Order: sequence, then structure tokens, then C-alpha cells
Amino acid sequence: MSKAPTLSDRLSKARSGSAPEVTDRARRGLMAYVGAQADVARAGKELADGTAATGVGRVALSAMSPQGLACAEGCAFCCILSGDDGGTITEAEAVALHRALAALAGQPDGRAWHPKACPSLDPETRSCRAYDARPMICRAYVSTDVEACKAVSDGQAASGPGTLGPYHTYLAAIGLSRAALKGVKRVSTYAMARVAAAAVDGASLEGALASARHKPTELDAELKRSKRDLSRI
Ligand code: SF4
Ligand code: SF4
Repeated sequence: MSKAPTLSDRLSKARSGSAPEVTDRARRGLMAYVGAQADVARAGKELADGTAATGVGRVALSAMSPQGLACAEGCAFCCILSGDDGGTITEAEAVALHRALAALAGQPDGRAWHPKACPSLDPETRSCRAYDARPMICRAYVSTDVEACKAVSDGQAASGPGTLGPYHTYLAAIGLSRAALKGVKRVSTYAMARVAAAAVDGASLEGALASARHKPTELDAELKRSKRDLSRI
């Protein structure tokens, strides 16, 4: 009788939908993450809920020290979102975001400052009320020019703001996790702004996740955008 494939076996054969070099980096990170877990069931759960992918992204981010950034607390043009989705996050990130915001339900939120602002934002101080729980998409977005961020928030093109490489590695890691667990566990992604809006509107975690869960094609589309952005670098 043949042995059931291990998580490492599954990861080694999975495809992410991202560029090959980014996929390789994400795969190495996930293999190391899974290999370091003594509890196989827990490793599978953390692969499924995106804890592993988020960990891979955060480790890559912590190894970087970009210079000349204009980012500062209270600077929030990047928290003015272009649509009601707000970007792709993992289930683990969605749970953490909801946990951070649930106690603030009913209080004025970022939309009292700007109609398109993230609901996690404090409308007075313009600082993130879920800072420690902010997802990778927020952690990896930086800029050397505040005026360029303001222009982007007004819908204009400008150079200066951009997403650091670890975000792409994180996305590839989500894609790999989903492919490796196909037929075993569901790997979902969520709309960051819809999770935040549901949390500050007082929705339960289950309700917030249900209202913000992406269709699988959303991750495919985000991976495609990531691959296209990387090809321009
Ligand atoms: S990305 Fe732009 S708007 Fe956001 S904190 Fe940095 S400089 Fe400010
Ligand atoms: S979660 Fe925080 S950092 Fe991210 S867009 Fe919302 S307010 Fe800004």
C-alpha cells in the first residue's frame, strides 16, 4: 500500500500561479514552516488558514530595511481605498482584524474622515486602530513621497508608493497552500475592507467572514496582477 503524501510532498509539487522565482522563495518558506511544526495537524491547519503564508511574508519583510521612506503615524492616504474590497487577506489575518476591531463597534471610523477610507482607521488621529493586526497588504505598502500617495488616493498615477517584494512572496505562499491542500482543506481569502467594515458594524466573526469571503477566482486574479507587476520591475 502506498503512503499518503505528506504536506511537504504536496508543497513540493504545488503550483502557485506566481512567477517561478517568487514561487520557489514561497515554497522554501512554507517547507521550512511546516518542517518546524511537531504537530502535523496544526501545520495543516496553519497552511489552510494562511498563518503559514503570513509568517513567510512577515519573515521576508523583517529582513528588509528600505531607506528614504516618508511613512509616518497619522499619514493615511494609503488607507483611502479604491474600492470596497480593500485587498486580499488570509483567514488568519481576517480573524485577527475582526478581533482587534470588534470592541470598537459603533464608534466613528475612518469613513467619517474620508468616504473611501478603511474602517480600521481612527478618523481623528488617522492612525490604524488595528495596527498590530494589520495584514500583509498594509505592512508591505510604503512610499518615499507623501504627495504621490495623495495623488494616488485621488485616482491619479504617481511614482513613489509601491508594494515591497515580500507581499508577492506571501501571495505566492497562499497560492501554493491552496494548491497543496486541494481536495483536503479549503484555503480561502477575504476582502480586507469588508472584514473591517463588518467588524465595526458589530457583525460576528462568522458573519464578517461570510460577507467578506472571496471567490477562488479573486486569488487567481491577484496572483496574475502580482506576476504582471513583478515583470515590470
Ligand atoms: S504609504 Fe504614503 S500615505 Fe501611507 S504612510 Fe507611507 S507615505 Fe503616508
Ligand atoms: S488596516 Fe490599518 S493600515 Fe491597513 S488600510 Fe486599514 S487603517 Fe490602513
